[in-house]
Amino acid sequence: MRNSFNYGDTEIEYSVAHNARLESKVRIHVHPNGFVEVESPPGKSASEICHAVRKRARWIAKHLEANSQLRAHALPREYVSGETHFYLGRRYQLKIVAPVADRPVVAMKAGRIHVAVRGEEPLAVRRRLNAWYKERAEDYLGRRLSEISETIPWLKNEPPLKLTAMRKQWGSCSPSGSINLNPWLIRAPRDCIDYVLIHEICHLKEHNHSKRYYELLERHCPNWRKIKTRLDGMAELLLAH
Ligand SMILES: [Zn+2]
Repeated sequence: MRNSFNYGDTEIEYSVAHNARLESKVRIHVHPNGFVEVESPPGKSASEICHAVRKRARWIAKHLEANSQLRAHALPREYVSGETHFYLGRRYQLKIVAPVADRPVVAMKAGRIHVAVRGEEPLAVRRRLNAWYKERAEDYLGRRLSEISETIPWLKNEPPLKLTAMRKQWGSCSPSGSINLNPWLIRAPRDCIDYVLIHEICHLKEHNHSKRYYELLERHCPNWRKIKTRLDGMAELLLAH
């Protein structure tokens, strides 16, 4: 159900989802992609919901504005000092530094990602930074896959992991039982990474998105809906490069 109203010269569009666990008040989420999601307790009419959302219009408009500035800031990538890049859900400033013998080409230092490159050629920065992301992805995603696999009682063996860059997808699962992940997932928050891993692991048992599949997913990741909405909202930012 989509609805909208005008606040100043902004049209605020929102979607409503009913949440049986809420008791009386609606809950409003403004996602990074500008998507406004309203969770409502059962039994509220559309006009009651709209009234509750309008009361928070100022707050929503402020967040929408902040998000659009964030997006403008993050796109497109230029690979210059001061630009922000995501790693495990946090934003880090890039700092281009001169290479020093025996020092790693890319290193995290004092809340920044240092990339050592002669000259400041953006293409060279991009290549080095992407190689580092790929390495971090292999290490971190592989480790989380092992750790999560151990907690899934019906899983006999840890599934093999492959990393493939994809434009629109975070992961997939092959009929032979291997899990394929997008290495750019390493830019996402840790809980989002775990959710994608659990989503694919559950496909090893239930191959489609059937009711049984979602029951299984819910069992291993009870708040997956909230995490998925958050990840969907960040996708544009995380996949930009
Ligand atoms: Zn799926």
